[in-house]
Amino acid sequence: MIRRIHILLLAAALVYAPRVASAQLRVVTSTTDLYDIAKAVGGNKITATHIGEGYQDPHFIEAKPSFVLQLRSADVWAFVGLDLEIGWMPLLLEGARNTRIRQGGSGYLDVSTVIPVLDRPQGNIDRSMGDVHAGGNPHYWLDPQNGRRIARLFKTKFTQLDPTNSSAYDANARAFEARLNAAEKGWQADLAAIKGKPVVAWHTSWRYFAEYNGMNIVAFMEPKPGVPPSPSHLYGVIQTVKRTGAKAIIMEPFYDRKVADLVSKQTGIKILILPPSVGGIPGAVPDYFSLMRYDMSQLANAVR
Ligand SMILES: [Zn+2]
Repeated sequence: MIRRIHILLLAAALVYAPRVASAQLRVVTSTTDLYDIAKAVGGNKITATHIGEGYQDPHFIEAKPSFVLQLRSADVWAFVGLDLEIGWMPLLLEGARNTRIRQGGSGYLDVSTVIPVLDRPQGNIDRSMGDVHAGGNPHYWLDPQNGRRIARLFKTKFTQLDPTNSSAYDANARAFEARLNAAEKGWQADLAAIKGKPVVAWHTSWRYFAEYNGMNIVAFMEPKPGVPPSPSHLYGVIQTVKRTGAKAIIMEPFYDRKVADLVSKQTGIKILILPPSVGGIPGAVPDYFSLMRYDMSQLANAVR
């Protein structure tokens, strides 16, 4: 009888063994942006899902049980890193009990490791001040050069885990870069209009976008990343807008528009609500290319 149970357990172990070579790689990403680029590189060789939606504040995603189930069978867990997911990721990974995607596992993919990170903190970090970017600025996908780095990282990881399909991953990654090169040519006029223009941003999420397009962020609505604006801070922002002639307040759909309205009433500055991620405005920005094009053209129109 015991021997029979052993055989049954062995059979079960074989059934639930790590993926068979013919199966698609199962990829779960934290954000829609990583999802979209993973899909572009993986094509029909992978299945992919994402945890957060593009219209949600990525710093605060609710850890739902259905996410644990997705992670339980994942071959790859790709996340932005730099503490963006610190509020919910440990709980989900704990619940998933999947060694492939735990730190040290073959499918644990911290995408920030291939990114030149902005705003790395100097000296002591004090999270009690409310700074949600204690490890550096995690909003790097809004620079197309980082979009390319993300695509190359996915190519390397998918090839490592699924070498049979290496030529497909390579061809898809090349196609993604070619498409991005062509898209960039299309928004050169917008880039020229944006370069050097003074703007205000709500959160430091627009730092990489600014690094790419040359807009001059003269103030942030938040005194520190993740800290809501105080009256005294707003007073300073209003003075800065008056002094610099800043053209627009750039903010995500999920921040408090009423506060931006206060600054606008005092100064006449425009409020520009831009999606920070794929799907950030339902229907308008369904993929990485449309996201970049939309944000670039909306900003160019606002500052021209
Ligand atoms: Zn942030």
